[in-house]
Amino acid sequence: MVNRTFVNALRGVVFFCMLSYSGNAQYITALSYERYVYLHSHPELSGEEINTSTYLKSVLSKAGFTIIDSLGFHSFAGILYNGKGPVVMYRTDMDALPIVEETESHFSPSSTVESDKPIVRMHACGHDFHMTTWLEVAEDLVKNKNMWKGTIIFLAQSSEETGQGAKAIISSPNFKKLPKADYQIAFHNTPELRSGTVGFCEGYAFAAVDMMNITVKGVGGHGAEPFRAVDPVLLSAYLVTELQSIVSRNLPPNDPAVITVGAIHGGTVGNIIPAQVELKLTIRSYSAAARNKILQRIEEIGNGLAASAGLDSSNFPIYTLLDMSIPSVYNAPEMGKMLFSALKNNTLETAIMPSKMIGEDFGVYGASLNIPSYMLWIGTTSSDNEKCPGHEECAIPKLHTSRYYPDYTVSIPLAVKAMSTSIITLLNTRPIPITHSTTPSLKNTKQ
Ligand SMILES: [Zn+2]
Ligand SMILES: [Zn+2]
Repeated sequence: MVNRTFVNALRGVVFFCMLSYSGNAQYITALSYERYVYLHSHPELSGEEINTSTYLKSVLSKAGFTIIDSLGFHSFAGILYNGKGPVVMYRTDMDALPIVEETESHFSPSSTVESDKPIVRMHACGHDFHMTTWLEVAEDLVKNKNMWKGTIIFLAQSSEETGQGAKAIISSPNFKKLPKADYQIAFHNTPELRSGTVGFCEGYAFAAVDMMNITVKGVGGHGAEPFRAVDPVLLSAYLVTELQSIVSRNLPPNDPAVITVGAIHGGTVGNIIPAQVELKLTIRSYSAAARNKILQRIEEIGNGLAASAGLDSSNFPIYTLLDMSIPSVYNAPEMGKMLFSALKNNTLETAIMPSKMIGEDFGVYGASLNIPSYMLWIGTTSSDNEKCPGHEECAIPKLHTSRYYPDYTVSIPLAVKAMSTSIITLLNTRPIPITHSTTPSLKNTKQ
């Protein structure tokens, strides 16, 4: 429900934005181009973003931000105070992926060094795009200090791809030195939208991710005498099938989830029944209720199958949740309404995006800090090229692929405009109360 005060505040914001912010660059600036080329050609993997972090820090320091360092891995924050007002945190990620780039870019990582071996690092998730935008937005907000009051926290995060970075920031002692944010914002680039189009997804935008290993125990024996053994291969086959009944039979149809068994390893040859089999799963869900129900049912089904095979409880499967678990990203609808109006009034194209079952550790901040959050999408596909930027023969390359090639020349200035407008809008709005929490409970499951 949007209350009257909120609507009045919103009117003020819309009016304000129509009048004021007008970053209208149609083409990437020379400075942003130089930064994008540097960041793209020097990708660093999760937890190794030393040079990237140093590079970003030097730009923010020069722009007048106070740096708070040592926020886990190579994460840091830049803070800029500008009088009394809301506190807005804007996060960028910094890490690349272990992929050999196959675009025709003249500044791909392998094309900029002399080596026979290709470089297995690429900004295939576009975090270089995020960082270039983030730097220009920081400078933009400094330039336009007369348009806002409050505090901005520019957070540069390591290790998004491994789901470790946001958790490390929240639990680092230095995080307490940061002012408490009233709003958090970020964006992710996407080839699914035209350059600069801003995508909105209200409510759950990204899924909670859990990675689980299950050791299915049995009693080993000769392949010719299965009656003297308890066959964990057969038990695993039942388990894989039964796990698929959880989503269809234990969850409400309007609370989606996915369970995938991505790996099974057990046994050596055909005539030996092994003593155990290892399964590796990924579990995706939106609500904490769905997530907890899935974890509970996995154990119940696994234990039930083991008992029906004659195993006692000491030989029930072992369930191990890996350290990669992250909560879902919940986009506060109240924030979405504000940003949507502001961006529309600043002539930016907008689109509605579906929820994704992929994960984003931006959800850690919303779940841990209980602050309204929003992650926007920003399109990167050139309108000149219907098929595939740089590669006419293929479909548009997706994120996390070797041919991902964002139309940075047009998309970056529009991303800067979208993020500057969004942050100025938030800084000129009274903080809204949080209406939702995704904080999950891990009870019932061994870690
Ligand atoms: Zn990614
Ligand atoms: Zn990403």
